[in-house]
Amino acid sequence: MHPGFERSIHRIVGSNRVSQRTTDRQTYSSDMWTKAQIWRLQGNPSKHRPDLIVWPETVEEISAIVRACQKFSVPIIPYGAGSGVCGGTTPTRGGLILDLKRLNRVLAVDHDGYTVHAEAGVIGEVLERTVNRVGCTVGHFPSSIYCSTVGGWISTRSAGQYSSRYGKIEDIVLGVRFVDGMGRVWDTRNSPEGIRSLNLLPLITGSEGILGVITDAHLRMHPQPQTAGFRGIEVPDIQTGLELVRILGQMNHRPLLVRLYDPLDTAVCGLDKSEATDGNLVQGIQSLIGRLSSKLGFMAQEKMDDLGSSMQAFGLTYPSVSNRVTRLIRESCLLVFGFDGDEEGVARSMRYALQQADKLECIDLGEAPGITWLQTRHDASFRQSSVYALGGFIDTMEVATTYDNLYRLYDRVMRATAPYAVTMAHFSHAYREGCSIYFTFGARHRNPTQLEDLYRRVWRMAMNTVIENGGTLSHHHGIGLLKRDRMRDELGAGVDAIRALKEALDPNQIFNPGKLIP
Ligand SMILES: Cc1cc2nc3c(=O)[nH]c(=O)nc-3n(C[C@H](O)[C@H](O)[C@H](O)COP(=O)(O)OP(=O)(O)OC[C@H]3O[C@@H](n4cnc5c(N)ncnc54)[C@H](O)[C@@H]3O)c2cc1C
Repeated sequence: MHPGFERSIHRIVGSNRVSQRTTDRQTYSSDMWTKAQIWRLQGNPSKHRPDLIVWPETVEEISAIVRACQKFSVPIIPYGAGSGVCGGTTPTRGGLILDLKRLNRVLAVDHDGYTVHAEAGVIGEVLERTVNRVGCTVGHFPSSIYCSTVGGWISTRSAGQYSSRYGKIEDIVLGVRFVDGMGRVWDTRNSPEGIRSLNLLPLITGSEGILGVITDAHLRMHPQPQTAGFRGIEVPDIQTGLELVRILGQMNHRPLLVRLYDPLDTAVCGLDKSEATDGNLVQGIQSLIGRLSSKLGFMAQEKMDDLGSSMQAFGLTYPSVSNRVTRLIRESCLLVFGFDGDEEGVARSMRYALQQADKLECIDLGEAPGITWLQTRHDASFRQSSVYALGGFIDTMEVATTYDNLYRLYDRVMRATAPYAVTMAHFSHAYREGCSIYFTFGARHRNPTQLEDLYRRVWRMAMNTVIENGGTLSHHHGIGLLKRDRMRDELGAGVDAIRALKEALDPNQIFNPGKLIP
């Protein structure tokens, strides 16, 4: 690192807001990407360390930092809360981590205009609580709401759990200010035609820090609903469940939530509270294998439970067996849905939804599964999976497609990954045209040195299948390093258009090198 560069940075923010300590460089070497977790397991956590971490507090400081980086050709990686799961903040060539968490002010809440103006480093939950004080909601509730920022959401095109009702972040953001690779400050709301004219907002949204750094954003708000109601339905099979997802996703009263779990994911959630396995994939496998064995009279369920972690490790190491068992059982599936609004509207929509479920010969399980979902919705996400303790890995892939293609895409991915990983999925984020499929893969290799290869193979098979079968590479986690090399398959010459835009905004290629586009 050039001493002149270090001096410039210290001059801009002062020494208290710069760190080159090994522990900090280590901590900022990755986000929540599973591959980085595998590196850690293998005792090589420092594969991609940044050179320094800086905590700016103002747009002016950010501009000055960018100009210094431009002058000395130092990469800059914008960093929100590091909750990304695709390696988006992992440095590929060292450089400077620009941690935005000190830009943490909610600048204005316009109750009459239903907008909120917040700095990029505001944590989601803080934003929501702030607007709740004036009786409003942003309606954006990712599972990571306690550990993700406004800037991170916009940069990754994030989706909250209630996106069927309130939209994804690209439907919520009205404008941003950002600093480009030359230190220039842009405001997408500045054009005379305001937010109606052609502007850069849709291109900055989802740009994952490769075009510049978002400093603050204007977001849409809604009045807080009077009430919300949730319900659980037992559906006989996935296809019937998908028909119900489509009906709910196309209602004029937008559902708050629609989630259909496949049989293994249903075993993980439990059809009712008493069966729940705390969101644990390995216990889910064990529970399914146990149920099959006792059904076939091989072994009593309690005995299976006693086998504990050896059964779980077996299930993960031999996914073909586990996946075949899951298919054999063909248990019914759980669908959870909900509505918000006024009492009468929620009751009316509930009645309609239950009538439709009844026509499809589904069973109403009452409120309990919905309430359980609401109360435990952050549990699985925030606990490290026991798969790691067994020497394996777990990861998730969220794609989207139209209703007519949903089952085919689901089935093809399940078959393609079956030899390598235990796979389960749920269908969620239902819109008028289609919805998302959220796959969870768990796998383990007998030889730990082969684990990273296995990880790559699972993802290669899964992404090939998604691309060949008309799915999107991502619904809400973004691209990062993980899916970057497949962007040409998805966008074609669109990749060159993004390159040209990057050339215009960041001619020295300092912003987040190696991410989003190959
Ligand atoms: C437990 C858990 C649950 C999750 N649940 C969800 C979910 O329900 N929905 C969902 O959408 N995602 C979810 N995620 C993924 C993650 O939370 C989102 O991708 C989130 O939007 C990332 O926000 P962040 O502030 O942590 O960004 P980071 O991880 O810090 O950064 C993500 C990317 O955005 C860039 N970036 C960050 N801030 C800026 C900025 N101000 N300007 C320019 N670029 C920037 C970074 O360079 C990087 O490329 C989950 C993750 C975890 C760990």
